[in-house]
Amino acid sequence: MWGLDRSRIVPTSVTIGINSPSGARERVRDWFDTNPTNQINPKYRAIKVKLGNSAGIAADKAMLIAVREEVKTHHQISVDANGGWGLTDAVEMCNWLKDYEIKYVEQPLSTIAPLDEYAQLYYQSPLPIFADESCFNSQDIPRLAGRVHGINIKMMKSGGITEAMRMIHAARACGLQVMFGCYSDSVLANTAAAQLSPLADYLDLDSHLNLLDDPFTGAIVQNGCLLPNERSGLGVERIDIVE
Ligand SMILES: [Mg+2]
Repeated sequence: MWGLDRSRIVPTSVTIGINSPSGARERVRDWFDTNPTNQINPKYRAIKVKLGNSAGIAADKAMLIAVREEVKTHHQISVDANGGWGLTDAVEMCNWLKDYEIKYVEQPLSTIAPLDEYAQLYYQSPLPIFADESCFNSQDIPRLAGRVHGINIKMMKSGGITEAMRMIHAARACGLQVMFGCYSDSVLANTAAAQLSPLADYLDLDSHLNLLDDPFTGAIVQNGCLLPNERSGLGVERIDIVE
């Protein structure tokens, strides 16, 4: 219906939450199903690492190093600090992360940080900065232009596909990159996002992969990419639960 090209869909990242270095290694192995020959399951091709540990950036660095060692291959890695750093730590971390081939850093500063701090980080960070919690809908985008490099669109922030499309156009008009993310959503919301995903530079639509009893079926992962199907509408069906 949108006339988009599914071959343009980039791999979706899978998330490693804040953890101890050993806990993070275990989580990487969970996702990538490392087998005895040390070959990594090619099902997933990108990882997002949650940083912003309340114990400080030394703990963040230890966890990132553990993940990088555990992955061993050239899987794409991105970082999300969820607003956990002040400006000084954010500048240090963005420069430190550059040496670990990180693609981008999401929400390094808190939502209540002055816009001037975003501008300072913008000019001092060698890595692209994406706004997540600081950007809920298209009205938030113009003030972020020149202060971040991209925005994270989520169905639960935009309220649906129509506003999500408006956000994409607003972001592009402001020279910003675009990614899609999720909260703890089922495949219902992530399939809706997948419909517009050919327009995104990065995708982080993995929440439903953590669910044991997702009440819906929809987009499926093929070669690391979450692909919408040929069904009508969003392409989602509810699973009838037999009591
Ligand atoms: Mg985020």
